[in-house]
This record gives sequence, structure tokens and C-alpha cells, in this order.
Amino acid sequence: MNQAIRFHETGGPEVLRWETVEVPAPASGEVTLRHHSVGLNYIDTYHRSGLYPVPLPSGIGLEAAGEVTAVGEGVTELRVGDRVAYAGGPLGAYAQHRNMPADRLVKLPEGISYEQGAAMMLQGMTAQYLLRRTYRVQAGDTVLIHAAAGGVGLIVCQWAKALGATVIGTVGSEEKAELARAHGCDHAILYNREKFADRVREITGGKGVPVVYDSIGKDTFMDSLSCLRPRGLMVTYGNASGPVAPFDPGLLAKMGSLFLTRPTLFGYTAEREDLVAMAQDLFEVVGSGKVKIEVRQRYPLAEAAQAHRDLEARKTTGSTVLEPF
Ligand code: NDP
Repeated sequence: MNQAIRFHETGGPEVLRWETVEVPAPASGEVTLRHHSVGLNYIDTYHRSGLYPVPLPSGIGLEAAGEVTAVGEGVTELRVGDRVAYAGGPLGAYAQHRNMPADRLVKLPEGISYEQGAAMMLQGMTAQYLLRRTYRVQAGDTVLIHAAAGGVGLIVCQWAKALGATVIGTVGSEEKAELARAHGCDHAILYNREKFADRVREITGGKGVPVVYDSIGKDTFMDSLSCLRPRGLMVTYGNASGPVAPFDPGLLAKMGSLFLTRPTLFGYTAEREDLVAMAQDLFEVVGSGKVKIEVRQRYPLAEAAQAHRDLEARKTTGSTVLEPF
């Protein structure tokens, strides 16, 4: 019997239901997985709330790690028993078992547990493209990352530090500031108490930073722009506080010929070659010990609604996994 979380209408965490879902034999190009660990991500709340509309009823979740239990026709690179992980593909990771397109999976290296795999794929590959592709961080750069104690945040802080950057991070509490500092954040700013844009100017001697990684959206967008040095890059990649309001691009000219991008992980991993290279880079930086994956919350998968409540109430730090069994 396979149990999974599904939702039939959009809304608060209460719309998430624990249901029995049949898993057919894998179609051509697919494999069946038995999940050992499922990743919780902020994007799951956007699907659930309707901010990112999906056809209903729907499964939910984009990230998990598990073992291959059946292989469909035409799948040559995977066998029953292989340990794999993924971030992306069709919704439905909040499940005990499921079918997945084989070309969205990567094999987990020996030293990486299922739990680490489920915790790191989505947030870690996001950190990979943010720091290595969207803006290639160089030693000596000073970068600003919002929600520095969050899932993506803790990974970005450690990785940026390992690349030789000075890391400025914003956080919602003193405890989160401490956690961010322990993970490579040189300057933790409590953005509820002080104007982060003023502090960034102060820290950079008035110059501003070459790149801002902003996952907060509505509440921080404008102030983030004003942290940039001339021709700096604004990377708006999330909406934890709500989506950014439409604005006049002329503003980018007035504020210093700024660049603006709105990337998604799935735009960077659409080609299998990129997916594999990004996962490889992530596994290497984690394997080297430069980036530690901090699983700081665990919930039974059946209690995914509580995990969503805590995530949206800013109660979680680092990564969170859901346990399917
Ligand atoms: P986090 O663990 O970072 O959780 C979100 C954090 O955002 C909170 O803990 C909180 O930290 C901060 N926050 C600020 N304002 C609010 C608010 N009004 N409501 C809730 N939280 C708020 O989540 P993830 O690591 O999973 O994701 C981080 C962000 O990155 C999300 O916005 C997500 O959508 C985005 N993302 C984008 C991707 C992409 O490719 N575009 C891929 C992966 C993630 P604090 O209290 O310190 O302010």
C-alpha cells in the first residue's frame, strides 16, 4: 500500500491530505522508487497556496532520495537497488513510492546518506547555480544573501565563504544570526531591527555589493536594489514574503545601470548534462567538508502540514526532511 500527500484545492496547510495512491508499473523511461527521505522546500508552499498554480488534484513535492525498485523499458543507466536522488520533475515527492523519469535522477555517492540527499538536492543545486552560474563569485567579492539561516541560506553562506567571498546575510532573529555566523556568514544583519541597505553600505565602505541573492521578494526587493554597486546584479529567486510588485525598468538605470534576473533551478537543470554537472559539483563540495548539510527538522511525511506551518512561520532553520516510513 502506498501513502502520499495530495491536495484537491489550494489554501493553507490544512488542504494537505494523506491518501492512498496506486503506483503502476514504470512506463518506458521511468523507474519506480521507494523513498527513504523527502525534502521540504519553500516552493512546496507556493504550489499548495496557489501562488504557483498547478492542475488539481495534485501531488506535491519536488525532492527526495530513495532506492530503485523497478525499471521501465529503455532505462539503461539504472538498476534495481541503485541509490538515487532528485530535485525537479513532476510534482509528487511527498510519497512513500512513486515513478520518476530516469533522466531526472542522479546516483547518490557512497558517502552521502539518503537523508542528506533529500535535504541537499534542491537547495544545494540552487546554491550551485546562484554562486557558480548566475553570478560567478570570485575570491574577494562581498555578497548579500537574504534568509541566511534558511535551507538555501546556510548552504550559500558556507559555499560562498569557501570561494573566498565576504558574506553578508540577513536573518530574522539573534539565534539565526548565530547559526549563520557559524556557517560562514561574516556579517549577520537582523533585518527586522535595522535597515539592511544602510548596514550593507556601511560594511562595504559605501560601495555596495556586486550581487544580491534575494529570496524574500516583496518586502526586500527595493532595498536589495539599493545595496548594489553600479552594474551590480540583482538575483530575485523567491517570494517568501510575497511576489515582487511590477516596477518600471527605468529604475535600474537610475540606480546604477543594474542587472536583474529572476532564475529558477529548473531553468538551469533542464538539460541533463547541466543537472549532472551541478549535482557533481554539489557532491564534491559536500564531500570535501567545505559545505555541511544541516538537517535541523524532521517530520513524519504524514505530518507535512505541520512542516509547512513551521516553515511559513519562520520557525525552521537549515534544511528539513519528511520521513515517509
Ligand atoms: P528557507 O529555509 O529559507 O525559509 C524561508 C525563510 O525566509 C524563513 O525562514 C525566513 O527567515 C525568511 N522570510 C522572510 N520573510 C518571510 C515571510 N514573510 N514569511 C516566511 N519567511 C520569510 O526556505 P528555502 O531554503 O526552502 O527557500 C528559500 C527561498 O529560496 C524561498 O523563497 C524559495 O522559494 C527560494 N528558492 C528558489 C529557487 C529558485 O531556483 N528560484 C530554488 C530554491 C529555493 P528569517 O526569519 O531569517 O527572515
